[in-house]
Amino acid sequence: MFFNMRLVLGLSFIFLLQLNIIAQTPFCDSLLTKKERIWLKENKDSIKYAPNPFWPPGDYVDSEGKHQGIVSDYIKIFEKKLGLKFKRVYYDDWNQILDGLKSSEVDFVGAIQQTDNRSQYLDFTSVFMDVPLVILTRTDNHHELTDEYINSMKIACVEGYIVKDIICQQYPDAKVIENSDDLTAVLQTSFGSTDGTVVDLMIASYVVHNYGITNLKLAGELGFIWNLRFACQKGKPELTSILDKLLNTIDEEQRRKIYNKWVAIGSIHKKSFLEKNLPLILIITGVLFFLLLFFLIINRTLRQLVKMHTKELVTAKEKAEESSRLKTAFLANLSHEIRTPMNAIIGFSTLLKQTDLTYEERDNFINMVHNSGYHLLSIIEDIVEVSKLDTGQVLVSRNEFDINNFSRVVYESMLVEIPKEKNVEFVMEKSNIPENTIISTDEVKLKQVVSNLITNAFKYSLKGTVFYRYNIRQNNTLEIIVEDNGIGIPKKYQEVIFERFRQVDSGEKIPQSGSGLGLSISKAYVEMLGGSISVDSEEDKGSKFTVSIPL
Ligand code: ADP
Repeated sequence: MFFNMRLVLGLSFIFLLQLNIIAQTPFCDSLLTKKERIWLKENKDSIKYAPNPFWPPGDYVDSEGKHQGIVSDYIKIFEKKLGLKFKRVYYDDWNQILDGLKSSEVDFVGAIQQTDNRSQYLDFTSVFMDVPLVILTRTDNHHELTDEYINSMKIACVEGYIVKDIICQQYPDAKVIENSDDLTAVLQTSFGSTDGTVVDLMIASYVVHNYGITNLKLAGELGFIWNLRFACQKGKPELTSILDKLLNTIDEEQRRKIYNKWVAIGSIHKKSFLEKNLPLILIITGVLFFLLLFFLIINRTLRQLVKMHTKELVTAKEKAEESSRLKTAFLANLSHEIRTPMNAIIGFSTLLKQTDLTYEERDNFINMVHNSGYHLLSIIEDIVEVSKLDTGQVLVSRNEFDINNFSRVVYESMLVEIPKEKNVEFVMEKSNIPENTIISTDEVKLKQVVSNLITNAFKYSLKGTVFYRYNIRQNNTLEIIVEDNGIGIPKKYQEVIFERFRQVDSGEKIPQSGSGLGLSISKAYVEMLGGSISVDSEEDKGSKFTVSIPL
């Protein structure tokens, strides 16, 4: 009994010891069956994996002979979880790998599609990655990828892949050209030796992106998806189930991470909605852009128009207000201007009724009445003239006359009109115009203009001299200048004095008189004769008015 107990305890100890040796990792500990652990213990130093020599970025060997790609990351996870290292057996092409599996040189392979034929000598794990098969064509190939067209195509693919079987089954008339690897197959179409290449989307992206092949496009999908699995040589069910269990420990997120790490996203891919409809989207965007631009321009133009019209309205309003103000001032001024001579006429004619007047007094009163009457008449004439100008009743009436004579008459007639109390000299300067020179213009209007300028010159001068000059310029223009040493005109008034009713407020210098119409009438006359009038003046120094009339 005691012996039996010792035997049971001893056997249990050996069993536990054995389990402890095999179960080196938490994965082995918890997920593997006893049978699998024992198999693993027996084979852990001799499990052989054959990487695909060229199926980047899925499974490949780099230029330094190192195993790389998505499958290599899975293998590394497996190795870590099992606490061992697989042996890598390297082959030159896929067909050699399949032969290696058949002849037991290799135990398992990654990223392989399950077929009936392969199932005869391989056991498969569950699917760990799906990749669609696509057809690449040249960018200058504009055929639509119909069944009829595919049937007429010369198609490149990789020898040993089941792609050939798929094409032959679905498109029996297509001519399939087999190549040693994916790159060579892709280049066949790039160089124009074949019409298209059938590869999976992942390697298509990789090759086109990494080898800078720009003349290929993704013509379409073949409607077939690689369901990629690991596959073990038949007769090793433990290895298959261990690999399956290992795959089950890798969750979706981890699988996506590995995939994204290796696949060049965006290098070549299925046409998105955006790409498919790019021309339409561009047209719509363009139309929208132009519509937007159109509305913006219209909006801006309208705003500018409104701004312009508002400005015009404001200016018109200001003008109307100014004109109304001027008319009010004019009427007030006019009533004063008319009242002054009228009062003088009434006052002095009343005085004349007296019988005890001396001869001198009577003569003086008569002169006063006479002058005031003339003054009144000139104001009335100005008003009548302005209304005639407004209604277009003033016409130019040209005649021929001697300009030197004209000037002499004007000078002499003005000379007598200078008030005696004015301490201002009147000088007519010698002209360059030869005697008996006849000119043709409206003599009456010219006389009115010159007389008005000379009258003003005396009216706005307290001292000095008033000069009257006239010459004919080289461009056959008669130039008449009236210059004085009077009170002058401030700069800001020099433009406006030619407008109606404009008068300069000279303060105490000279009492205001006149209607403010003289210069506006003169300007209208000069312009009717095709000429111009201007002023050059300095306050307290004097003014120079220049009239130019083409002859
Ligand atoms: P008015 O009847 O008031 O003289 P005008 O139209 O002839 O009207 O002149 C307009 C204004 O121009 C005058 O009121 C005066 O202020 C100014 N002016 C005209 N000529 C002279 C001048 N020679 N010197 C100074 N101011 C002048």
